[in-house]
Amino acid sequence: MEAEEIAEEARNGISRYCIEKCHALCCRYGVLALSNEEVDLLVGKKRKDLEKKGLIHKKNDCVFLLEVGKKACPQLDKKFMCKIHKNPLRPKLCCDFPLFVQRGFVVAAASCPAVNDGTLDKWFEKFREIGYKII
Ligand code: SF4
Ligand code: SF4
Repeated sequence: MEAEEIAEEARNGISRYCIEKCHALCCRYGVLALSNEEVDLLVGKKRKDLEKKGLIHKKNDCVFLLEVGKKACPQLDKKFMCKIHKNPLRPKLCCDFPLFVQRGFVVAAASCPAVNDGTLDKWFEKFREIGYKII
């Protein structure tokens, strides 16, 4: 099994945990680094209002920071599910979280409870079996 396949299996494997136990912490806490188009997709008509409130910052021409700590991502519904989960334009950051596969290693998001409480351990073991480190 390739590393990205393991990561995808792991992301799918924790989906119930994400909704029922974690309540989509990563969509409610912190900052998302997004492209201009991704910001539009996520916030739509709320963009001007969120900019006024200082919740969207332009980092440079390509990267915008959307704060989801004060107000959850507008695409998160009341049942802690992502309304654009199946949209092919959903940000790669959202698709990859909490496992970012690099050459020979995997970055596991330190803020994710599933990374820290053992929920992802069986997949970490699979990564190690193919020679990948978890950092
Ligand atoms: S923080 Fe981790 S466990 Fe929580 S919803 Fe995000 S990926 Fe799932
Ligand atoms: S787009 Fe979906 S997965 Fe990404 S932060 Fe918003 S609700 Fe979460």
